Amino acid sequence: MAHNASRAPGRHLLHIPGPTPVPDRILRAIDTPMIDHRGPEFAKLNKRCLDGIKTIFKTANPVIIFTATGTGAWEAALVNTLSPGDKVLMVETGQFGLLWKKMADRLGLKPEVIETDWRVGTDPALIEARLREDKTREIKAVCVLHNETSTGTQSPIADIRKAIDAAGHPALLMVDTISSLASTDYRHDEWGVDVSIGGAQKGLMMPPGMSFNAISDKALAATKTAAMPKSFFAWDDMLTMNKVGFFPYTPATQMLHGLAVSIEMLHEEGLDNVFARHDRLAEATRRAIKTWGLEIICRDAKYYSPTITAVLMPEGHDADAFRALALETFNISYGASFGRFQGKMFRIGHLGDVNDASMMGALAATEMALQLAKVPIKTGGAQAAMDYLVSAHGAATRQAAE
Ligand SMILES: *Cc1c(COP(=O)(O)O)cnc(C)c1O
Repeated sequence: MAHNASRAPGRHLLHIPGPTPVPDRILRAIDTPMIDHRGPEFAKLNKRCLDGIKTIFKTANPVIIFTATGTGAWEAALVNTLSPGDKVLMVETGQFGLLWKKMADRLGLKPEVIETDWRVGTDPALIEARLREDKTREIKAVCVLHNETSTGTQSPIADIRKAIDAAGHPALLMVDTISSLASTDYRHDEWGVDVSIGGAQKGLMMPPGMSFNAISDKALAATKTAAMPKSFFAWDDMLTMNKVGFFPYTPATQMLHGLAVSIEMLHEEGLDNVFARHDRLAEATRRAIKTWGLEIICRDAKYYSPTITAVLMPEGHDADAFRALALETFNISYGASFGRFQGKMFRIGHLGDVNDASMMGALAATEMALQLAKVPIKTGGAQAAMDYLVSAHGAATRQAAE
């Protein structure tokens, strides 16, 4: 934006890892008159949401919808299934892993933490080894993040399930899929997850303020003995009222209008196409970064995140100053830095309602901003991303023709 202007023209390039850009169609769906949340029209809307969200988590069980951000659904997962003093095994893959652990502490649980250098996802072998040692079965839950948003690493959930089974351990598996759901494949039932935690403002392309718990039969059974205090987040009231079409309290009606449309849009594109698009844009982003000669925080390709890539700034260059300059000049926002990477990295979100061309806008803006900020890079990153996208589409076109 020009220094003497109070308006930045065009669309803001919102490349934070949530809230992500909300499609106009969802905005229009939300922009609708209030309805009676105990009336028949609401029951119909609610059914669309409750049935639809199951297809996103890939579960046959009920999914609970909370009027709260993802943090609320984290809390719900813990308080509905556990008792004060229970030991939980958590992995500090980054800032979000750390925050969930702090929550467990505050709630009176006993988190035991597997630490990482914040540059890799969760290694299933470490989970298996720890569970094998736990002969007295003190650990009641294993809590992992599918996608660690603060550093851009993804963890292999199906393999973590296998690791728990290989150890023959009865702990519940709880998975935070807030920044991966509806962006990359996720299978609550097939992967044997007990509680999956989702949020609205990332892959679901919604405003913030709604979150989810998908639950297994085993998690539901655990509620019978779970002694943690809970009220707003209690699953049982929700399940009872949802069965007859309603909520125990006034739900976020407008958000449900949005959610119904979000789910429709995801299926119109096709979930597998949505996932392929995220993989493609993630790879294009990484090619740009590598061409610039910058370092990706995730140091092992098997953990690369399909939704967010964190970039390490070269020594002597302040990532926050860079973000401020890019915002001022090119109207683009990136994810901020946390903890041990404070001021040292910026994160490029490539999730939600983004396409190849809008992603290229972001990568071109990033290359220009890096040059303006005098960060020592090799130019041609945006070109490398374009070359990759052309080849990816070329391959798809050839396949279709054959
Ligand atoms: C965004 C996010 C959260 C927190 O969700 P809020 O909606 O901000 O409460 C938790 N975990 C992960 C992995 C996230 O990306």
